[in-house]
Amino acid sequence: MKIGVLASQGAFAEHISILKQLDAEAVPVRLPEELRGVDGLIIPGGESTTISRLMSSSNLMGEIASMVGDGMPLFGTCAGMILMARNISGNTTESLGLVDITVKRNAFGRQVDSFETELEIPVLGDKPYPAIFIRAPVIERCDSGVDILARLADGTIVAARQGKLLVTAFHPELTDDLRFHRYFLDIVSGRS
Ligand code: GLN
Repeated sequence: MKIGVLASQGAFAEHISILKQLDAEAVPVRLPEELRGVDGLIIPGGESTTISRLMSSSNLMGEIASMVGDGMPLFGTCAGMILMARNISGNTTESLGLVDITVKRNAFGRQVDSFETELEIPVLGDKPYPAIFIRAPVIERCDSGVDILARLADGTIVAARQGKLLVTAFHPELTDDLRFHRYFLDIVSGRS
């Protein structure tokens, strides 16, 4: 299995390292031609406005959208989730608009910039999942057709799946719990 990791900006090296631990081939993607032969793609966290600009200027927006149209699975974490959302609240950042969710950027404000919390994520099994949030967005609204995978204790939606598209507001690449990446690889291989 060959997984591309968008490497324009942000936490791509950590995703590549986890994929390698799971015996997947992982390649950094900065140009459309580097998407050739890729079975799935991860869009990492970082700064969504910057990643969006770099994706547009390197012609990756259209190429990724077209490959997803042909069935390529996509996993977006944090800024990556923002870039996959159909709507971004109060914001004009260009996104791929692939997942029928509305997200709000920097939803936790300055006081709680970053935090870690244990989440119950039934698709990953019974063991709580350590989720790290850094200037994180939240999912304000999910349309029908989107499965909610995880919520905070107050009900806020922080992970979802629509078909082969997976999004998390938190950073699975920053923990040593490999279950979220394994779940994505199961989507890519057609096991999930
Ligand atoms: N705050 C960033 C944004 O709005 C996302 C933060 C992250 O990816 N860790 O793009």
